[in-house]
Amino acid sequence: MLAGMAEIVLLACELLLYALGMLAAFRARRRLGLGVFLTAIGSLHFLETYLAANLYVQVAPGLSLSPGSVVLFSGKFLFILLLYIREDATIARQPIYGLLYGNLLAVLLGLLLARHVVLPGTSGASNDLNLLDPMGVLMVWGSVLLFVDCLLVILLYERLSRRSRLPVEVRIWCAAVVVLVFDQIGFFSVLHLSYDVPLAAGIGGLVGKVVAATLYAVLIGQYLRHFERAGPVPADVPADGAGPTLFGTLTYRQRYEALREQARHDAVTHLLNRGEFERQVGLHLARALRERRALHLVLIDIDHFKSVNDLYGHQTGDLVLREVAEVVGAGADNGASAFRFGGDEFAMLVTGIDHDAALALAERLRAAIAQRRIGEGETTVTVSIGVSTLPAGSNDGNVAELVRIADAMLYQAKADGRDRVAGTHVGAR
Ligand code: GH3
Ligand code: MG
Repeated sequence: MLAGMAEIVLLACELLLYALGMLAAFRARRRLGLGVFLTAIGSLHFLETYLAANLYVQVAPGLSLSPGSVVLFSGKFLFILLLYIREDATIARQPIYGLLYGNLLAVLLGLLLARHVVLPGTSGASNDLNLLDPMGVLMVWGSVLLFVDCLLVILLYERLSRRSRLPVEVRIWCAAVVVLVFDQIGFFSVLHLSYDVPLAAGIGGLVGKVVAATLYAVLIGQYLRHFERAGPVPADVPADGAGPTLFGTLTYRQRYEALREQARHDAVTHLLNRGEFERQVGLHLARALRERRALHLVLIDIDHFKSVNDLYGHQTGDLVLREVAEVVGAGADNGASAFRFGGDEFAMLVTGIDHDAALALAERLRAAIAQRRIGEGETTVTVSIGVSTLPAGSNDGNVAELVRIADAMLYQAKADGRDRVAGTHVGAR
């Protein structure tokens, strides 16, 4: 029992070392390139195959497993999935093809190497190449299976991501467990037939792989959350690198989605842009009318922004825009949406509160912006805000009217001396 515990602790340490080592190499890809990560995957592959055939440990009575399969194999194909998640399919296919190709090449070389007349080993160790015979079969079979596994895990992950909003750990775990069961049946049947590896090792391997997949899913999920927060970054590879294959299709879909996401946002402030406002305001209005709820349009315009540009330059001007956008964006929680409406103008669409609460929200925004010290020069700016409200229970309303009233209110706030909020109901004027 105690010996089993010691084995489990050792396996956990191996898993942690492998995961942290590979995640560090992955994280360093922007500085060092992906080669480090990819080469590490390739070089550990041989150890993994060797261990899968030769090293088994007992973790509980009647339950044994191979660290090669459980720790190294489960990890490797999840690291390839990570590559797909953060880069794209064109990048992920490189180690997938590379492992298949490299293994076939190794087996062919092994066939030639075995024909050498071998001199006695200088170190006294056996240099018998017979080990390549059975391992060759295992390597070919293992890499064909791995090839199928990698495609399957990517496709399953894709499906899960498209259909559900499950946390990334759960999506990785579900895809991994399905593929690991499939793989264990495929790989172990060959081990059992050609190496007489007992059935207990098959069960142990399966349990071990599911536990390992859980740990890897948590570690990779945490890594993604803490170190790779931005959305998927499409890799800068030539477009013709992705042909009309499965990988090509997946790559183009990822790039298309990344571009579409980029097109919805303003480049300076990263808030949703005017086009997105035009698209969403109609939807918000239709929903408000259907659910008989109030809808407020809050228009925010920076006071004398031209003189900020003139006095401090456009870079400071951009910084001011970003800081104001941050306050507006932070105020847009709870179902409200924030947009950059135009030059120095921002818009917010708010539902679920009444007109007075919308005015109070606008007032909080105004005060928060006025208090902000911006940049090294601690510049301050003020804003004027116009609020138009489509009252709850309205039977009709249109976007043009909502915008016209908010604009008129903004104009009034400016005329009354700026740094203030003005608002009214649609239909009140
Ligand atoms: P008012 O109080 O009446 O609003 O005066 P204002 O000076 O703010 O006047 P207005 O709103 O018309 O000025 C908007 C200015 O915003 C004009 C333009 O040069 C500047 N602007 C528009 N887009 C950008 C941008 O992306 N970056 C920077 N730095 N300035 C911008
Ligand atoms: Mg202005």
